[in-house]
Amino acid sequence: MQIAIPAERLAGEARVAATPETVKKLVAMGHTVVVESGAGRLSAVPDAAYADAGASLAANRASALANADIVLQVRPPEADQIAEFKTGATVVSLMNPYANPHLAAMAAKKLSAFAMELLPRTTRAQSMDVLSSQNNIAGYRAVLLATHYYPRFMPMLMTAAGTVKPARVLIMGVGVAGLQAIATAKRLGAVVEATDVRPSTKEQVESLGAKFIEVPMTDEEKAASDGVYAKEMSDDYKRRQAELVTKHAMAADIIITTALIPGKKAPQLISAEVVRAMKPGSVIIDIAAEAGGNCALTVPGEVSVTDNGVTVVGTTNLPALVAADASSLYARNLLTFLSLMLSKDGFTLNLEDDLLAATLITHDGAVRFGQPSSPSA
Ligand code: NAD
Repeated sequence: MQIAIPAERLAGEARVAATPETVKKLVAMGHTVVVESGAGRLSAVPDAAYADAGASLAANRASALANADIVLQVRPPEADQIAEFKTGATVVSLMNPYANPHLAAMAAKKLSAFAMELLPRTTRAQSMDVLSSQNNIAGYRAVLLATHYYPRFMPMLMTAAGTVKPARVLIMGVGVAGLQAIATAKRLGAVVEATDVRPSTKEQVESLGAKFIEVPMTDEEKAASDGVYAKEMSDDYKRRQAELVTKHAMAADIIITTALIPGKKAPQLISAEVVRAMKPGSVIIDIAAEAGGNCALTVPGEVSVTDNGVTVVGTTNLPALVAADASSLYARNLLTFLSLMLSKDGFTLNLEDDLLAATLITHDGAVRFGQPSSPSA
């Protein structure tokens, strides 16, 4: 099979979908790999490293894709890019399936398109889980970004000139990103608190040495919110949460928000009033900025300072700020996923496989995502 790795086109997307390590493995399986020249430049992978791993280099995207049976990307293909694929090719990438306007175009091109964000969160899928590998990086980078904007120290310091108090960090949403943010802030010496709608996260927060802020919940609410993913909460719950959040936000120096609900706009956890009640010099890093943001004042892609001196950071795509490691983990996730279909003997798309069935959004000229027969609907 011929496998292509085009350079990413989205502004600020510094990651790449294959590394010399994964290229070497694909070539060892007997496949041909074509990399668009410059694809790895922002991930610290020069063209020569791909060539040494056994890939051929293509001068541009169109020539990389022309004969490709399989295409690996980070971001979903845009409308003009879909035309460049070979009819019937397989494409594996993040696909933004809930808001992707090009599903019909991908189906018309007979692409077998896999959306990696739809991978079930099961033990078997863990090594292919791009949301986990990338959100882990986002949580780490969010804390470092906070230290950049925060005008004080993170740890407590006892110096001859006096003692400096440690920063108080509040993490909202304790999924993969939130847990890594807690761990990173603790390593830097901050005092850390965290909250989540899923009560089961309390134990995880405490095991990292942080304090869990528990929103009072009825037994029905507890039962309803203890799945793998958070559900949208009732207005009454939101009111109770807002009261508690206001109190803790006013005491916090840094807030990192990570709350996401798959397929929906990110829930608002911090209102403009709460930001106005925060201390001057405090910082909000909104990891959910790309999904609309958890803070009412977040502007995706921008950093703003309020009249009362709070810095609201809406920087999107934090994993791309750690592009080399983000790419290596993403590329390994994709290689493991591909091995469900690809072997030395060829390529088999087995729709009985739950991981393939859940992620395949277009196939055989039809859109599968959102259809009642599709497991991802
Ligand atoms: P996510 O990015 O979807 O959301 C981040 C966190 O925000 C979640 O913990 C969620 O509960 C929380 N949240 C949502 N709405 C909220 C609100 N209104 N207020 C406060 N918090 C809110 O989460 P994720 O990192 O993708 O993890 C989701 C789940 O998947 C977790 O249970 C995680 O342990 C699980 N997981 C399982 C596997 C696996 O077994 N393969 C791998 C990774 C993650």
